[in-house]
Amino acid sequence: MRILLMGPPGAGKGTQAAKIAEHFGIPHISTGDIFRAAINSGSELGRKLKQFLDAGKLVPDEVTIAVVRERLEQPDCENGFLLDGFPRTIPQAEALDQILREMGTELDIVLNISVAPEIIVQRLSGRRICRNCGATYHVKFQPPKHPGVCDRCGGKLYQRSDDNEETVKERLDVYTKQTAPLLDYYRKRGLLTQVDGNQSIDQVWSEIERTLRSIKK
Ligand SMILES: [Zn+2]
Repeated sequence: MRILLMGPPGAGKGTQAAKIAEHFGIPHISTGDIFRAAINSGSELGRKLKQFLDAGKLVPDEVTIAVVRERLEQPDCENGFLLDGFPRTIPQAEALDQILREMGTELDIVLNISVAPEIIVQRLSGRRICRNCGATYHVKFQPPKHPGVCDRCGGKLYQRSDDNEETVKERLDVYTKQTAPLLDYYRKRGLLTQVDGNQSIDQVWSEIERTLRSIKK
């Protein structure tokens, strides 16, 4: 199965991606991971990529696309893959179509985990992280036994600066503006399935599992 997974920050995309990859036995391909792998491989492409990242520059589409292509051509992707974080733009989506066409295949489904903005704000702005061990809590949904103190190690909890309500709203706006055309692109091609992300992790998973099982070839 060839799956593209989309969803705003705070939608629990990472958790669901790990479950899908494990359950269906396909590699989880996130752009961050393949960027790191390409750089570590020391290939020509990896060196090029590193130059952009080291300079703090935006990686141009043609480089991102070449890196993704190299990854999708690996043998472990033969029976499918789960793409996460790519494509982000229409030119990237068109390039992905082209890559897959050349490989004699295509995407089977685009899953978009949609979550109401106020729920995302609530989830992210209540998040607290342990300074010492990195454990995460939520002031309402998963509070530590003692406020501000990590259950696991006794470390101090803090709030990431980009998890405050204002910044979360800004991040969401950026995400929505960026991805709306992409969702349209896949909707027009009949590939888009919306997943209700306003539910618990287990409920979201069972909806995804049911959807994927029904299209499994
Ligand atoms: Zn801790």
